[in-house]
Amino acid sequence: MTESYTLTRWSLEDLFSGYDQADMKKAFDELEQRVADFEKLRPQLKADMPPSGFIEILHQMEEDTRLAYRISQFAGLWFSEDTQNQDAQTFQARVQQFMAEMENRTLFFSLWWKALEDDEAANLMKGAGEFDYWLRQMRNFKPYTLSEPEEKIINIKDVTGASALVRLYSSLTNRYVFKVEVDGEVKELTRNQLMNLVYGTDPEVRARAYQELYRVYGEDGPILGQIYQSLMRDWANENLDLRKFSSPISVRNLINDVPDEVVDTLLEVAEKNAPLFQRFFQLKAKLLGMKKLRRYDIYAPVTSSSKKYPYDEAVGMTLDAYHDFDPEVAELAKRVFDKNHIDSEIRKGKRSGAFCSSADPALIPWVLVNYDGSARDVSTVAHELGHAIHAMLAEHHNVFTTHSSLPLAETASTFGEMLLIDRLLAEEEDEAVRRDILFAQVDDAYATIMRQIFFALFERQAHDMVKAGASVEEMCKAYEENLATQFGDSLEVGEEFRWEWVSIPHIYQVPFYVYAYAFGQLLVFALYRQYKEQGEDFVPRYKEILSAGGSMSPEEILTKAGFDFRKAEFWQGGFDVVAEMIDQLEEITAS
Ligand SMILES: [Zn+2]
Repeated sequence: MTESYTLTRWSLEDLFSGYDQADMKKAFDELEQRVADFEKLRPQLKADMPPSGFIEILHQMEEDTRLAYRISQFAGLWFSEDTQNQDAQTFQARVQQFMAEMENRTLFFSLWWKALEDDEAANLMKGAGEFDYWLRQMRNFKPYTLSEPEEKIINIKDVTGASALVRLYSSLTNRYVFKVEVDGEVKELTRNQLMNLVYGTDPEVRARAYQELYRVYGEDGPILGQIYQSLMRDWANENLDLRKFSSPISVRNLINDVPDEVVDTLLEVAEKNAPLFQRFFQLKAKLLGMKKLRRYDIYAPVTSSSKKYPYDEAVGMTLDAYHDFDPEVAELAKRVFDKNHIDSEIRKGKRSGAFCSSADPALIPWVLVNYDGSARDVSTVAHELGHAIHAMLAEHHNVFTTHSSLPLAETASTFGEMLLIDRLLAEEEDEAVRRDILFAQVDDAYATIMRQIFFALFERQAHDMVKAGASVEEMCKAYEENLATQFGDSLEVGEEFRWEWVSIPHIYQVPFYVYAYAFGQLLVFALYRQYKEQGEDFVPRYKEILSAGGSMSPEEILTKAGFDFRKAEFWQGGFDVVAEMIDQLEEITAS
């Protein structure tokens, strides 16, 4: 039986028939009523209430949340479908406003829950079952929580303090205009437009783009650096001195619910593997016909083929790749197509990029891609379907525990991509196409793993330096050393890159967020390696990880499935996969 797949727009009917239809109006009214009912329960929340009554309240909250999620999801998906549609814009703004109000009206629950004493909470949690991890996680921060008046002061002062600094940084940097000469014409570009140039074929333009980027950032460098220093000082004052976290990075680790030792091991193993990507850069230089690669060239294209894959073939290959891994997994992926929950065609006004959206676990997730036929687009289809599979394997959990936590969020998506790539490579006879596919893989691995790891290493060092009263100039020097460790002598790094750190919004906005990218990607590589070694025996353990959703901590989930992410070898296994890809590339390019 062969089925054919065509590029389509999705259907949102499983959510609502339309923003102005009766079912939507009914949903708004119902949610309003449910929240009002919930508010009336407030006096019942007591440390000595019967656990059964407590569980009943949780179920009620869950129902309310499902409904709220459905409305929000409809608004978000409809807007992505057509970002130029005025009605969709207005509707989304209205929903956001409505949800913020609902959230404020129900905030009392989590505040009450976190304020309970440990024994009181333990007593109420006795029959909590499915809600267990969600409840535990909310209380993780209790030891670091200050008294109510202190928390209030921090909140109030943040608005004009740390948050204001972050806003100031965004306002300053978002108005930057970059001037660069392309095809004999000086163009004024935004940062995004400028960065597109570094993926281009002209080495001169690539160099000019980076030089202009850091010329502009460097001009404000002393000010941007000062903003960063103030933010780091604020982070330490609040989190170390007042809340008593043991280190600056521990704050983020607790949010991710990953033990400090695991993150330390990850960073250590990664740093040791820096020479791996240095080898890759040397190979790339060879292919580009350069003696030595310049930092400007690391994203330069080496594509030699322009092979296109018809959509029908792409979907077929993806489903086959999943089927070879496990038929049930392929069945789940197929559901997205059967339900017409995928928006694959390219349309004017449609959101660019790709995503998978799952909200209420009772519904099949929605997937958006902009399919144009490149090998990368095929991987994207496999990637987003992986997210959908993850959500469906965890659909038996409640709305609070179905979604996996950040460190595990990219597991099924990246793993699915690996399955597809292996299949593409196995079926492809054209060496040039095989080479392009592998190159794209290692390019991505560099950007998600090594680059992010070295940002995290710099952040860690920067915190210590700020504490010791370092100047912005000294931090630039430290950043130059960071780059030297990362690239060795595999790259020529221009002096202007000393300002790169002031151009990374993540380290300003969400300190230590970046390591999660490397964590997720390496975890998948490490798992994939075990799959290659163990074959079928691996499949049920892998599915166990996905089915857990967010119902346990990452450590509990992985341990239960028999993986030990506290061991350095586990992470090294991930790097070994990258090493094999580079081996293959060296082989192909040598022939
Ligand atoms: Zn993803």
